[in-house]
Amino acid sequence: MDDETLPRGAAKPAARRFATELTHLGRPPVRSHGFVNPPVHRGSTVLTPSCEARIGNAKRRFERVMTYGTQGGPTHHALEDVVAGIEGGTHCTIVGTGLAAVAVPLLAFLKAGDHCLMPDSVYGPARNLAEGMMAGWGIATTFYDPCITADGLAALWQPNTKVLYLESPGSHTFEVQDVPALAALARSRGAVSMIDNTWGIHHFQPFAKGCDVSIQALTKYVGGHSDILLGSVTVNTEAHHHAIRAASAGMGHYASPDDCWLALRGARTMAVRLAHQERAALSIARWLQTRPEIAEVWHPALPEHPGHAIWKRDFSGACSLFGVLFQPRYTEAEVFAFVDGLTLFGIGASWGGYESLAVPTNAALTRRVTPLPRGQAVRLHIGLEDEADLRADLQSGLDRLPR
Ligand SMILES: *Cc1c(COP(=O)(O)O)cnc(C)c1O
Repeated sequence: MDDETLPRGAAKPAARRFATELTHLGRPPVRSHGFVNPPVHRGSTVLTPSCEARIGNAKRRFERVMTYGTQGGPTHHALEDVVAGIEGGTHCTIVGTGLAAVAVPLLAFLKAGDHCLMPDSVYGPARNLAEGMMAGWGIATTFYDPCITADGLAALWQPNTKVLYLESPGSHTFEVQDVPALAALARSRGAVSMIDNTWGIHHFQPFAKGCDVSIQALTKYVGGHSDILLGSVTVNTEAHHHAIRAASAGMGHYASPDDCWLALRGARTMAVRLAHQERAALSIARWLQTRPEIAEVWHPALPEHPGHAIWKRDFSGACSLFGVLFQPRYTEAEVFAFVDGLTLFGIGASWGGYESLAVPTNAALTRRVTPLPRGQAVRLHIGLEDEADLRADLQSGLDRLPR
């Protein structure tokens, strides 16, 4: 099997750029009879030549020795190579959804009596997990201001703090965190830092910035076509890999190889899609800043964004998801009518597909420590439509708002 897997970690060829990695990772030629794409491997039972071999294989379960379908197969491994490669980690584990990728590391590194720190801007279902099931299991969580400094975070630190959770920019509200400083504090205190890097994808390199675990919803840009759900947990050490695999396999997590195959297909075109969508989104965000109906545009690549300096220091680019805050004079009903009236923007959860989306944000309702400014916010995802058409659609919507 070893000749079928790419070298990882230190052996990974250095200095290949993002688009090249996406084109070449995860498709070693021996696996495919010369075809460009590896096949889909579906399977539960894995046959061994002897009983002895079966026992030997089970002992090597953290390596890519396949013992049973739940350990993942070649299709999973190919996708793991792509994700680990673009995030700069050594090992990746694919799970069925982005939310499973959030839950697995939290449960791998936390137990009853432990304490977790989470940003107040965290992805809603991660907050629900912390406040619901984790609390029920005796794991306490403190929510912190996402823009906190390392000193501020140190003041919230408890002797039993075992996990520092990060997400930058924050879900719906796009605060940029000082991840290197916060992750360094976690490391100095012997805690595990984990970051939801779904927005950053490869523009943010979590391990180079001092994080231990990186979470991605591959459902978003990697899938890219709004037709699959998948998540990834990437780490940078053997010990963390074992902890993640033990938790993931121990809870029976699995992802469909067909969905992994679709994610691999999505990954091949992701660099081009991302570059196009990044450009269009930033241009639309800049234009929205000039509109009198809009109070704030929450896009970290705009110089006016409060997190811009950190974003510029730590990220090599942006994706196409950002928020707008309407002037407080507009009611929720008026902003809903604006969104309802758009013709090219779908109203729906998720993002990263080829199609544009608009959803009103209710993040203010769940805040614990950092209240949001007054006014209704809307999250926009810019897809692959022609930018001028998208802008015209938004412009007509804004023009329909009461003067
Ligand atoms: C969508 C999302 C997830 C969860 O992904 P699913 O595949 O939908 O479960 C996790 N984190 C962030 C930031 C997301 O936007």
